[in-house]
Amino acid sequence: MDFFEAAETPEPQFTSGIDFEAELNEEQYAAVTAPFGPALVLAGAGSGKTRTLTYRVAWLLDQGVSPSNILLLTFTNKAAKEMLERVADLTGVSPKLFWGGTFHHIGQRLLRRFGAPVGINPSFNIIDQGDSESLLSDVIRRIDPAFLKDKNNPKAKVIANLISYARNTLDNVERMACERYPYPPRLGPSIGKFAAAYEKEKRKQDVTDYDDLLEMWLRLLQSDPTFLHYCSTKFEHVLVDEYQDTNRLQAGIVDTIGSHHRVMAVGDDSQCIYTWRGAEFDNIMSFPNRHPGGNIFKIETNYRSTPQILSFANCILDGHTGGGFRKELRPVRPDGEKPYFVSTVDTTQQAEFVIRTISQLVEQGRSYGDIVILYRAHFQAMDLQMELSRSGIPFQITSGVRFFEQAHVKDIVSQIRFVANPRDTMAFQRFAGLLPKVGPRTAEKLYAFITDFAQKNEQNFFDVLGSKAVVAKVPASARDDWESLAETLRTCYHASQHQRPDEVVQLAVEGWYGTYLRTLYPNWKSREEDLTGLIGFAARFQELSELLAQLILLNSEASDRSIEPGEETIRLTTIHQSKGLEFPVVFILGLADGMFPLNRAVEEGNLDEEIRLFYVSVTRAQDQLFLSFPQFQSQGGPPRKMPPSRFLASIRPDYYEAVRYRSSW
Ligand code: ATP
Ligand code: MG
Repeated sequence: MDFFEAAETPEPQFTSGIDFEAELNEEQYAAVTAPFGPALVLAGAGSGKTRTLTYRVAWLLDQGVSPSNILLLTFTNKAAKEMLERVADLTGVSPKLFWGGTFHHIGQRLLRRFGAPVGINPSFNIIDQGDSESLLSDVIRRIDPAFLKDKNNPKAKVIANLISYARNTLDNVERMACERYPYPPRLGPSIGKFAAAYEKEKRKQDVTDYDDLLEMWLRLLQSDPTFLHYCSTKFEHVLVDEYQDTNRLQAGIVDTIGSHHRVMAVGDDSQCIYTWRGAEFDNIMSFPNRHPGGNIFKIETNYRSTPQILSFANCILDGHTGGGFRKELRPVRPDGEKPYFVSTVDTTQQAEFVIRTISQLVEQGRSYGDIVILYRAHFQAMDLQMELSRSGIPFQITSGVRFFEQAHVKDIVSQIRFVANPRDTMAFQRFAGLLPKVGPRTAEKLYAFITDFAQKNEQNFFDVLGSKAVVAKVPASARDDWESLAETLRTCYHASQHQRPDEVVQLAVEGWYGTYLRTLYPNWKSREEDLTGLIGFAARFQELSELLAQLILLNSEASDRSIEPGEETIRLTTIHQSKGLEFPVVFILGLADGMFPLNRAVEEGNLDEEIRLFYVSVTRAQDQLFLSFPQFQSQGGPPRKMPPSRFLASIRPDYYEAVRYRSSW
């Protein structure tokens, strides 16, 4: 039976049998049993937000509300599944009877049934990100055949990302193209045209991308009074988890359906960390204005962390409210240790400190699974990954790939490998394959031709790369890139004869690949930081061969052994990915100003979001918290001293233990 029909069948009167007062604390109880009407639950980190939301559902059922009249919204599929399962466990009511899931999931179901008035064929296909990018490239090629060939123009992927961001923030693509990306302003109108044509093409093909599921849903609500009436009478109660991360489209949907104001939004404004993807901090701040007459419930009891960790976390918010709601976390757990702020000389010593401390903790009875290592950006964990691999401590990177396995890192490393050893055809294939129309076969032929040509002319391989004869063998659309690549390789090769390894890496990073990176990836800035990090890493070595040996070891089987199922491992993750999780022991790396807060974020005026990230990271810890501060940065050139993170200035000095790491630690 169709989900929709199932949801329509009337439910018998339900009683959960839950003793709400006994199972909840006073603050949670007040929120769970709040009168029908708007309610904003501002729950601090670790205070049981999801718990509150699930009990609210049970309570609504007890009040005679039918499950089919409850709309439960959240963000990730995992969170939605977990939420619905918890509700089912608590109430015994099948998750199928609720309207629950991600915004996209619910949008999709409603559009199929009610989308005709806005021209949606009910059997539309949903295209994924890859498909939507290739559809956009087709459209661009049709409108302006030369556009994508011009290497100064952004690639389709970058434009797709820009269009998506603009749609999720209800902004104008053209204006945003001029504002957010460093392209010449003439590109704005072109990108606007591409976006409009892309839109048309999707309608023509009866396909929708992910953003359509939200955008059309909102449009349908705004343009079709029958649909609006249906939604707002059917969904008597709307409950939203992680509300602080809603974007404008999502908030618009909730507000429109919830014009009856029976909306409960649960979130923590201090944990809003996805504005870079379009999350709108102001949604939660202005909720009371958009849904007036309700209550704001603050759940400030924290079940997760020791009083010492919480005092520290509270200080972060004291110092910088960032325009958010005032709140304080109250501990219920017994005393523990103060957080440690540990200065190390540099990131090499930071890695040593973390590993020695982990060994001690394990000797004291901790297991690897109790420990998480958090960092602001992937490249900051590079030294640690290397040392962990050497030490044999099992670790897992739960967000993304290992640093050295990232595509852009491998792309650069392949160029360095090749410069050191031009017989390394695999390396040649990797970077040559980045050029348009160059596949493995073409790369192979090209390599054979160059080798032959160099030999015949008694010239060095690198010196003939840019010669007319060689360029003629390169597919026409790849020639511009090839010439720039050839120049970079030649420069790197000659530098490798007498310059330091980090200088060679720097030349590669600043050469052809630097430009290529910018046009290929929407997040080129953070990838560029990774590569700058790689230059710093190279500075640890005297010889190029040493550097390469180490890089290869890092990717070897021994260091990359797979984790047995059920094996306890340390987890390494970015702070963004650690949201909602909790761990007994937390290490936060790189508390130097420039690393955390990240320079780029400060320059772009996003200090408030960095502070919220710091808050999220600290509040993951249950028992022990170690913050480490590498004092010197060595990114090529002489080591540069960094000040401690400015975050520390807002923390009372007696709230943490400042220590200096020595090898006798
Ligand atoms: P975050 O802000 O990190 O997302 P959260 O507010 O969603 O946290 P939960 O993860 O739901 O909080 O809960 C944190 C911990 O506190 C969980 O281990 C949960 O079981 C526990 N907890 C919450 N409420 C209670 C309660 N009333 N009694 C006992 N334990 C509780
Ligand atoms: Mg949570």
